[in-house]
Amino acid sequence: MIPFIDLSKQYALIGDSIEASVQRVMRSGQYIMGPEVAELEDNLAAYVGVKHCVTCASGTDALQISLMALGVGPGDAVFVPAFTFFASAEVISLLGATPIFVDIDLDTFNISTESLKLAIQAVNLSDSKIYPLPQNIGTLKAKAIIAVDLFGLPANYPELVEVANVNGLTLIQDAAQSFGSTSNGIKAGSHAQISCTSFFPAKPLGCYGDGGAIFTNNDFYADLFRSIRIHGQGATRYENVRIGLTSRLDTIQAAILIEKIKIFDHELSSRNDVASSYTKLIQSRGIDLVTPQIPSGYQSSWAQYSILARDESHRNANIEALKKSGIPCMIYYPVPLHLQKAFAGLNYQLSNMPNAEAASKTIFSVPMHPYLTQSDLEMIISNLL
Ligand SMILES: *Cc1c(COP(=O)(O)O)cnc(C)c1O
Repeated sequence: MIPFIDLSKQYALIGDSIEASVQRVMRSGQYIMGPEVAELEDNLAAYVGVKHCVTCASGTDALQISLMALGVGPGDAVFVPAFTFFASAEVISLLGATPIFVDIDLDTFNISTESLKLAIQAVNLSDSKIYPLPQNIGTLKAKAIIAVDLFGLPANYPELVEVANVNGLTLIQDAAQSFGSTSNGIKAGSHAQISCTSFFPAKPLGCYGDGGAIFTNNDFYADLFRSIRIHGQGATRYENVRIGLTSRLDTIQAAILIEKIKIFDHELSSRNDVASSYTKLIQSRGIDLVTPQIPSGYQSSWAQYSILARDESHRNANIEALKKSGIPCMIYYPVPLHLQKAFAGLNYQLSNMPNAEAASKTIFSVPMHPYLTQSDLEMIISNLL
């Protein structure tokens, strides 16, 4: 049986050093904001090549803290792709702002710059004939863009930065799936003014629980993030200068990540080998499936290896065939966000986001982790139709 994501192989490799690291924290008694948290933040900031890394309790909180620092609230519009994990858009609504969904490009699964430009124009002119908008929500002020690096591939930041600048919007990178990836030599975490990542166990760099981080070169934002993550703390502990959260990264999780980052680049290169083998095997056998496309100058961190089938029944036949052989596979994502029940109040309609809707019907993801063997891959591929 091949697991979808195998965390036990990694544990067999570095478990001893992780246990020693966790034991040091347990014996130290510094469970909240112990020295490992600052050490990890320094390591991560250096790895990404930005001035500040502020860790927090999850990737979702990283996004929420970022929006809170920008003062996003009721009456504000935040642009977000319709095809992503729910959290990317959830935080917008949680703060009382309105998510404006934008369609994706089918070759990268990332936000379409052309659609984004139209969506911004539509919000600025309150005209849903230019681009589909939520219905009956009145006039909104365009405030920020959350671009998502889906499946580990960075979005098209050269274009997105330009669109954000021209329109006076803040660009946030949702790098929850893409930590370790690069485009044009720039690491995920440094493509936008603010970047967020997640250490959920199944992400490329995962801890053993929930965790997240925010990256920025901006001193002002970094101070705000640090304050918001601890109850809007001021210069001293019991001075509260704004409304915040309780969203620290546990010292134990920091200690685990300090060990895991030591083998992270090696794991990334194994993920890349796995992805290349999948693509080669599928193409050389003439299997009628569309393999992931990586634009030149880009390197994915391969959070997922996601394939497009001809149509929904071809996709479902592939999933059935894999399941029969005991191979797990997943659909990321079966429902595009504009059609999710939680967002029904926005009154988006079927056919508003044709590419996101097409992807949700034809996509599926096969097992992906750094410890898949060539024979695992052969066995998986032999089941594809
Ligand atoms: C996982 C994920 C998040 C949320 O991260 P958590 O740590 O689970 O809160 C946000 N955005 C995307 C794209 C994700 O994949």
